[in-house]
Amino acid sequence: MPNIDRRTILTLAAGAASALARPALAQAGYPNRPVTFVIPFAAGGPTDTVARLTAEVMARDLGQPVVVENVGGAGGTLGAQRVAQARPDGHTLLLHHIGMGTTPALYRRLSYDPVNGFEPIGLITEVPMTIVTKRDFPAQNLAELVRVLRERKEGINLANAGVGAASHLCGLLLQSAIQTQVTTVPYRGTGPAMTDLIGGAVDLMCDQTTNTTEQIRAGAIRAFAVTTRTRNAALPDLPTAAEAGLPGFEVSVWHGLYAPRNTSAEIVNRLSRALQFALRDERLVARFAELGTAPVPQDQATPAFHRQYWQADIAKWRPIIQAAGQYAD
Ligand code: ASP
Repeated sequence: MPNIDRRTILTLAAGAASALARPALAQAGYPNRPVTFVIPFAAGGPTDTVARLTAEVMARDLGQPVVVENVGGAGGTLGAQRVAQARPDGHTLLLHHIGMGTTPALYRRLSYDPVNGFEPIGLITEVPMTIVTKRDFPAQNLAELVRVLRERKEGINLANAGVGAASHLCGLLLQSAIQTQVTTVPYRGTGPAMTDLIGGAVDLMCDQTTNTTEQIRAGAIRAFAVTTRTRNAALPDLPTAAEAGLPGFEVSVWHGLYAPRNTSAEIVNRLSRALQFALRDERLVARFAELGTAPVPQDQATPAFHRQYWQADIAKWRPIIQAAGQYAD
């Protein structure tokens, strides 16, 4: 056989071999099928909004769809449990918030390990909260709201997303700051709670700007304060709680992404890079800003920063919850 022919055959053979090898390599690589983000709250709520915006851009970087699955209930512990017990192959992830810092102290009986059951991938965003009521609530400012809550506490329904949810924590802080107690109504997330607040079935809520900003702007609900030290650019007319008469009333809601324990460092790092890609995306940044928040700096969307931040938050909340004796069980 002349040389040229042999070379052609060898080239063809090599080409065929690599074409055959490609699907096999892709199968072994990560991710090789759609990735699921479990959100431990109902669809349409503040964490769901953060998750869907982030998932859409991460999918572009990962080359696979990223599907959001809402597993709400029990203050976020049902969704967290699902991921803690999933295969650690990077295809089932948890997008959760400050509840990852409070749950280890709040819940004394869980069927998963809320501290060691996960590999942190990176922080995402810190979302301010707002104190809001149904539109026709009989108060025009925070001082009047506080007076009505103290006078009529029996008849006031405060909606939240269950023990451990941010709305629950913020509601507790509010009741303790104004030294009164109202009736709480737990939902699987503040998405459905918002529907009831707009409809007037519940009176009051403390919820994240990613769920409240557009409803406040549309006049569907009434807002009294934002719970950060400074005003929020998305709601510039809304006073801070301190300006409105509750000095020191500050709470915001950090979010992070987690894989089940024992997920390989290679996969965790790949996900962290995809998360950083998403948080640099101009359209994501613009949409976050419209909803009153911003992505964390790139160096915080990393496993190391996230782990240290999360552990510090667990250590911060444990003594506060123990002193209050407020457990979920
Ligand atoms: N983040 C929850 C949700 O998305 C609400 C909460 O934590 O209060 O519904």
